[in-house]
Amino acid sequence: MEIDLHVHSTASDGTDAPGEVIALAAAAGLDAVALTDHDTTAGWAEAAEAARRVGVILLPGAELSCHVGGTGVHVLAYLFDPRHPALLAQIERTRADRTQRARRMVRAIARDYPLTWDDVLEQVEDGATVGRPHIADAMVAKGLAASRDEAFATVLHNRSPYYLPHYAQDARRALGLIRAAGGVAVLAHPWAGRLSRRVGPEVIADLASAGLAGIEVDHPDQAEADRERLRALAGDLGLLVTGSSDYHGAGKSTPLGACTTAPEVFEAIVAAGHGSAVVRP
Ligand code: AMP
Ligand code: FE
Ligand code: FE
Ligand code: ZN
Repeated sequence: MEIDLHVHSTASDGTDAPGEVIALAAAAGLDAVALTDHDTTAGWAEAAEAARRVGVILLPGAELSCHVGGTGVHVLAYLFDPRHPALLAQIERTRADRTQRARRMVRAIARDYPLTWDDVLEQVEDGATVGRPHIADAMVAKGLAASRDEAFATVLHNRSPYYLPHYAQDARRALGLIRAAGGVAVLAHPWAGRLSRRVGPEVIADLASAGLAGIEVDHPDQAEADRERLRALAGDLGLLVTGSSDYHGAGKSTPLGACTTAPEVFEAIVAAGHGSAVVRP
């Protein structure tokens, strides 16, 4: 079985519609895929319909923005109840602040570049979670950057003078909410990216004690040596090891299935999650 547990659609900052992502996953030979858009479950229904049609197993999920102290972390939540009130309130608060934060970033960028908030809104599907990639797409559309990558390298990176953070919930609290909502939590790409701040092993151990079920070890942006350290840490802590592509469509060069998850790990996640149902064709 080929299993990819982290993909994005136009419900957040991917470039393929949820149904398209699932159809592309089937065409790429994947047997199971998790749709994990940033801070939203808006793509679940369309993805489920497509999964039944094209014969792929769908694991409903989301990539939740969190922080530990001052450090941002992403938590992949699977199979949670999307209507759990306290979890939903955190997700909605994050989504609302992402929009305000993007507006403020665009206001700052607009002092130096001919870019408007309307230009950005043209890049966002109705109801989608807004992110820096949409600002990048607007810059590309206006001829201000050649690609998302170039827009991130010049204007949108974490240390840019235009960068602003957005609200994100405390990771330990998030883990409690995900479990209360029947979900399973996996720490997304903890050691991806050279420039961003990283959480140390002691923080990951603390998250394990707060209900974390796994670590995304095999991720295209994680170096081989770091993957081996994370694999060993997961072993020490009794955590599951997942692998996934973090596919964003045309927005990144990584293909679907670039990294994958072992079938027994997939089955362990499915067995532990009870807030929503796996979609089997
Ligand atoms: P945000 O969630 O608004 O802070 O934006 C971060 C998102 O931008 C990440 O989830 C990535 O999907 C995306 N991203 C980060 N760096 C790049 C890059 N160099 N090229 C394209 N997308 C990127
Ligand atoms: Fe993203
Ligand atoms: Fe992420
Ligand atoms: Zn992601």
